[in-house]
Amino acid sequence: MVKKVLKFGGTSVGTIDRIQHIANIIKKEQLNGNKVIAVVSAMAGKTNELVKMSNEISEEFNKRELDVLLSSGEQVTCALLSGALIKLKINAQSWLNWQIPILTEGDHTNARIVNMNVEKINKFLDSNGVAIIPGFQGISKNGEITTLGRGGSDATAVAIAKIFNADTCEIYTDVDGVFSTDPNKIPVAKKIEKISYDEMLELSSLGAKVMQSSAVQTAMMYDIPLEVRSTFTDRKGTKIFSQENIDYTKSVTGVAYSKDDAKITITGVEDKPGVAANIFEPLSKAQINVDMVIQNISSDQKTTDITFTVKRDEISKTKKILKENSKINYKQIIQNEKVAKVSIVGAGMVSTPGVTYRMFRALSDEGINILAISTSEIKLSVIIDEEKTLSAIKKLHTIFDLD
Ligand code: ASP
Ligand code: MG
Repeated sequence: MVKKVLKFGGTSVGTIDRIQHIANIIKKEQLNGNKVIAVVSAMAGKTNELVKMSNEISEEFNKRELDVLLSSGEQVTCALLSGALIKLKINAQSWLNWQIPILTEGDHTNARIVNMNVEKINKFLDSNGVAIIPGFQGISKNGEITTLGRGGSDATAVAIAKIFNADTCEIYTDVDGVFSTDPNKIPVAKKIEKISYDEMLELSSLGAKVMQSSAVQTAMMYDIPLEVRSTFTDRKGTKIFSQENIDYTKSVTGVAYSKDDAKITITGVEDKPGVAANIFEPLSKAQINVDMVIQNISSDQKTTDITFTVKRDEISKTKKILKENSKINYKQIIQNEKVAKVSIVGAGMVSTPGVTYRMFRALSDEGINILAISTSEIKLSVIIDEEKTLSAIKKLHTIFDLD
């Protein structure tokens, strides 16, 4: 017998038909002799709708009340799913955050789960019951309702898998799993069978958003194996675990891209110690996340150009801070928002020589100019002209044997 946490996302509980469908998935698991804890999201779009309603009252809607409001979406799906299972003659019961309780720490709308009472639910599982738990929420030590940040049902599923010592944690969603690149753009994209936590994090922060990143980080920290799979097919999903469990036959696992970066070049800055620090210190104090940085070699030993990237929606803030910075002298600030970041990600890269040069050669064969580069152990990213994104992804996907 296996103890399973099954998490169902918003689209999987988006209609009554779908709730009945997942009730059948759960029933099958239970008839196979497994103990099931189901974690549910709110119906797709529900949380957004609630946020919108609160905004109509005030853009600065009280955070405590916002948590009470937002947590209601999952309360609805919990009860509907439990009722659907009971109709199928399964012994099911829903629990709300305070009934368990799911204890959280941290601010309203951004709390994290620290503990949970397991006794009642374990007893119920032992009596052949299916427990249904709302994702995305908990209760603070003062008894206040809290939520875990958007997409937080994944965090609930991972926390439950850990605290209940489950054997598996399956994330049911509306895609088949994690793909080697965006399947909507590149039809030859392939579903990845196994992927490490680190690779998953790199791929998801770069666009393949299948799971909340912080939930993947928690799973990594406690070594909780995950599986992402589709609610709507029987196909196998993508298994996510630690790198040691994976044999890398390929150097690159996936090609990701994002179009929310912008490039800024400051020309004619003095080439002397302390200048870079003077440029970036105020940006970091303003919480602006600088991604790639390049400094050209100065040809006259006096001045140089510094190029860096920030998120596109932070570009005006960034420019304002640069212009108000009295510690730096420069000629000009040039911005380019029509850029894209394309990355190859793979834990197999470490042990394969020549990946870097193959990426650069492939891009040059396509006539693509590289505007900035950054590397880490399992990722190599370049900034290129936005218009060339698709041809870059296609080419890289092919030359690294992913088609
Ligand atoms: N319903 C919440 C949201 O939309 C939590 C989740 O779906 O994971 O953010
Ligand atoms: Mg979700």
